[in-house]
Amino acid sequence: MALFPCTVHGERFRGAAEHWYVFMAAGIQSQRSHLRVCRKCSDQLLEWSQEHLVPVPDDYDVPVPEVKGCADCSLPIGVDAKPLIVTGYVRKDEPHQLMGGLHEKCAVPDWLGVAVQRGHQAA
Ligand SMILES: [Zn+2]
Ligand SMILES: [Zn+2]
Repeated sequence: MALFPCTVHGERFRGAAEHWYVFMAAGIQSQRSHLRVCRKCSDQLLEWSQEHLVPVPDDYDVPVPEVKGCADCSLPIGVDAKPLIVTGYVRKDEPHQLMGGLHEKCAVPDWLGVAVQRGHQAA
């Protein structure tokens, strides 16, 4: 059994943990969290991220790719959106780095939101 419970489903699990980092900014405040998850939840995170976010471009000089709308409600977002950046280390893959945005009043899904609240608050 893993030493720590999965940050997403809350129970200890067999096998190596996979690591996800979530960064969300709202105004001058920002929230960072580290999710230590089981493979199943890691796959779920990857699936959600690929559905709602877009890959971060290698070259930051190029314009940010068209975001798929709000990561919560899918409606178009403007420049006042809250940025969300997710980085996942899934098995031996290159890190998955994806970005998107949320409306001021929208939030990430509960399971990701819970993880954000439970996560370490880093500067
Ligand atoms: Zn899990
Ligand atoms: Zn929204």
